[in-house]
Amino acid sequence: MLDNSDLVRAAVSKGVRSRAVIDAMRSVDRRLFVGTDSRSQELAYQDVPVPIGENQTTSQPSLIAAMLEALAIQPTDHALEIGTGFGYQTALLCRLCRTVVSVEHRAGLLEQAARNLHACGIENALVYQGDGGRGMPEHAPYTVIIGSAATPSVPQPLYEQLSQGGRMILPIGPGGHEQVILYEQRETGLAAVRTLTAARYVPMVGDYGV
Ligand code: SAH
Repeated sequence: MLDNSDLVRAAVSKGVRSRAVIDAMRSVDRRLFVGTDSRSQELAYQDVPVPIGENQTTSQPSLIAAMLEALAIQPTDHALEIGTGFGYQTALLCRLCRTVVSVEHRAGLLEQAARNLHACGIENALVYQGDGGRGMPEHAPYTVIIGSAATPSVPQPLYEQLSQGGRMILPIGPGGHEQVILYEQRETGLAAVRTLTAARYVPMVGDYGV
């Protein structure tokens, strides 16, 4: 039988070393964050994207883990997530950060995510429906920003809502083939630090989409 530790093994085999990220993965049961049908439940412990309805998928766990590791998250961090989906990445972020503000465009997915996070015992997430490309100025500035939908360039509001010294990771591209890029807010402005990997994301909808 597969279980959560298979996801940890997959992430480690792809080079993830952060103890905090590995502990977070162990403590979040991915089965709570996919559909209840037997196919989704079967895929939950495999390192693959799983469809979550409305033509969306929850991201590959090892890719999420690599992105979280690259962000070098501290327990004091205040994070913004764009694209909640069913909330799996939100739950991992919540284990790593002080607070997480997550914005999802699709109301149906957001409602399910809120239920999933509750079932997982997560209490430090604030979830909102809206266009995450605009960020969430009410709770800004953020020390960490993570995007789960493709955008052709960094949306200006995200740049404005990232604190000095803050880190941001976004899939940059046309939707379907992106570069996952890590940025840092420096005194001289936003700097692209490195490209983590190439990956495929759904396009960001709204003002800052593809
Ligand atoms: N973080 C999720 C990924 C879900 S897929 C996970 O790990 O499971 C990407 C999500 O981004 C989809 O749910 C989609 O509805 C959402 N999305 C797309 N454009 C958006 C936008 N402008 N604002 C907020 N969410 C958006």
